[in-house]
Amino acid sequence: MDPKEALGPETLRSLLDKQALLWLSPAHDPTDDARDLPCDPSAAHARFERCAGLLARLFPELAATGGRLSSPLSPIPHLQQRLSSVGEPGAGSEGTWFLKRDDILPVAGSVKARGGFHEALSLAERLALEAGLMDVDDDRARLAEPPIRQYLGRHTLSVGSTGNLGLAIGLIGAGLGFQAAVHMSSDAKAWKKDRLRSRGITVVEHAGDYATAVASGRAAALDAPLIHFVDDERSEALFLGYAAAAEELLYQLRTARRPVDATHPLFVYLPCGVGGAPGGITYGLKRLLGPHVHCFFAEPAASPCMLVQVAAGTRTPVPVHDIGLDNQTEADGLAVGLASPLVAPIMSRLLAGVFTVDDDTLFRDALTLERTEGISIEPSAAAGLRGPRWLLGSPRGRRYLQRHDLTPVIAGATHVIWSTGGALVPEDIRALFRARGER
Ligand SMILES: *Cc1c(COP(=O)(O)O)cnc(C)c1O
Repeated sequence: MDPKEALGPETLRSLLDKQALLWLSPAHDPTDDARDLPCDPSAAHARFERCAGLLARLFPELAATGGRLSSPLSPIPHLQQRLSSVGEPGAGSEGTWFLKRDDILPVAGSVKARGGFHEALSLAERLALEAGLMDVDDDRARLAEPPIRQYLGRHTLSVGSTGNLGLAIGLIGAGLGFQAAVHMSSDAKAWKKDRLRSRGITVVEHAGDYATAVASGRAAALDAPLIHFVDDERSEALFLGYAAAAEELLYQLRTARRPVDATHPLFVYLPCGVGGAPGGITYGLKRLLGPHVHCFFAEPAASPCMLVQVAAGTRTPVPVHDIGLDNQTEADGLAVGLASPLVAPIMSRLLAGVFTVDDDTLFRDALTLERTEGISIEPSAAAGLRGPRWLLGSPRGRRYLQRHDLTPVIAGATHVIWSTGGALVPEDIRALFRARGER
């Protein structure tokens, strides 16, 4: 269907006016548990387990957890109280809110650590096995030994990124002994380029947006057997690395005595760029929890690429430019005009809906989080904070709850807001974020 027609006149008008909105996916099937799809996140989980010793040895930041990559799940009662009282009185207080702190994931300081570590590890394993330098049953700590490490050092990990994926692949790749090259768009932040260069990582700059950087990186890797391109638009290894987060979250909810079942629904709010991170996490959660988990994506009002692609219901790529949006946003982690062609089709039945956020709200909410909970994150990472408000306090959100018989059980709900980045932001940039939030 024509994407504009598929959106309907009311939604289209709000999108074009860059008015924040909640959109419910008509193709969403809450009973779908994605079990019919072949990708299995437990393979990624197993890879992380068998490589834990290696990671503890190579990355001092991971030594404390024995090489396990994980982030805290933090209650945020003060923020919950503050944001619940916005607008209609009483609305928004149903259930308990948590923040999933991927903003402080080790090494990369963003959710990209999950996909990045998984893809880099799977490549290192494959190269060492194919070269006959390691056996399938060998301890993966062998990947840090000089002969294998030198062999890996002949290979380059390359990536196209607006910033955080480049940071993750660069820092993780270098830690594992690879060369690294990061293709960045002109809108990528200067501090991210500086940080990479200071670690000896090659940064190639391109005029244009995220898609240009990815296309350039992909082209440079063609016919170059020693360059491995990490394809943010198509990589299954990235996707599965993100999906493995589902087991971690489930374990943490159990530990926090937050059951997830028919009378205790779980709502998860995920900032979305190209869709790999939120899509992978959604996929992993749906496979484990089926109808009891409801995933919503948060996108900038200027770049709602997943909303537009899923609404269009076609495999033909639909960039946000096609409906008249410009993809201009300060949320550089989310400034993507076209959704991943790998992830968008998988999301059509799994994704409950999308809400959009304007830039001012991102900065303001990030500041509110800092003032209420003492947690400082980057603007992109704040995109999910409005999620519970949309669900509990808007007519469309309430309709969603009624349609799925959730209204009677909403007091027992758990709301997980995924915070996706921020730990590596330099202090002077944080000060700019704060100033903008105060405006
Ligand atoms: C990359 C990123 C996202 C979204 O991930 P995608 O895979 O691009 O959808 C969200 N927040 C931050 C801070 C990011 O860097």
